Amino acid sequence: MAKGKSFDEFYYRNEDRNVSVKFISDYADKHNGDYNLYRGNMFCPECRAAELILRRKSSTHRAHLKKIPSSCHANDCSYNYEYITCKRAKEFINSLSDEKIQDKLNSMMHMFFDKKLEMHMPKGEEAEQIKSNPMIISHEQPKFIRAFRRKSLSGWFSEDEENKLCVFYGKVKMDVSEMVKDEKTYFRLTLHVLNENNEPRKKIIVFRSWRDNIDKDKDYYIVLIGSWSSANGWKIKLANQKAIKFREIS
Ligand SMILES: [Zn+2]
Repeated sequence: MAKGKSFDEFYYRNEDRNVSVKFISDYADKHNGDYNLYRGNMFCPECRAAELILRRKSSTHRAHLKKIPSSCHANDCSYNYEYITCKRAKEFINSLSDEKIQDKLNSMMHMFFDKKLEMHMPKGEEAEQIKSNPMIISHEQPKFIRAFRRKSLSGWFSEDEENKLCVFYGKVKMDVSEMVKDEKTYFRLTLHVLNENNEPRKKIIVFRSWRDNIDKDKDYYIVLIGSWSSANGWKIKLANQKAIKFREIS
């Protein structure tokens, strides 16, 4: 069982939506630490079963959300499992066909952006449910069950997570520019991450081998698997060039 995981957003039961840790931290700061309006209604963003509480910022850590020890995740929630290592995650992704990677990203997209829980939580036997959760890697040889680390693009990126493999997700505007290096052509996909008020919040660069077909004026939901670094601006290095999916927000 994984211990000590923190959450960068919570499911707010009263409004049937996910809310960022930054929002609740700012709210508590403005109300002398009181966030009773939310307390008791903050749950795991994935299974919506485990109750969370806010740990306010201190001199040593940022504000974050933790599970109440007496509260449990659903059996098929990925937060029950240790995070997969970067090496194993890459091996796993590279063992999948392009189609299978896209299927996985599609399921993740449902999980992150389609509100109704029954749309993304699989049904059937518990073992099957665990296997069909896109955030869980259930491996046979060698046998292990691990989870992908989940990271909201609009959340805080803390140094201890730099270069760790994550499934990133969020709302973005995008643009593409072409660049040539060592006589090879690359494309720089710039993600302009939108906050809860749909304002661009930070810029993240993703290097691509081909030009993505996007409209720079439109808003998109995006899911991508990779690791981030902050040297010379925020960048995400994809685990695989196919490990990215976006969908226009209509
Ligand atoms: Zn959970």
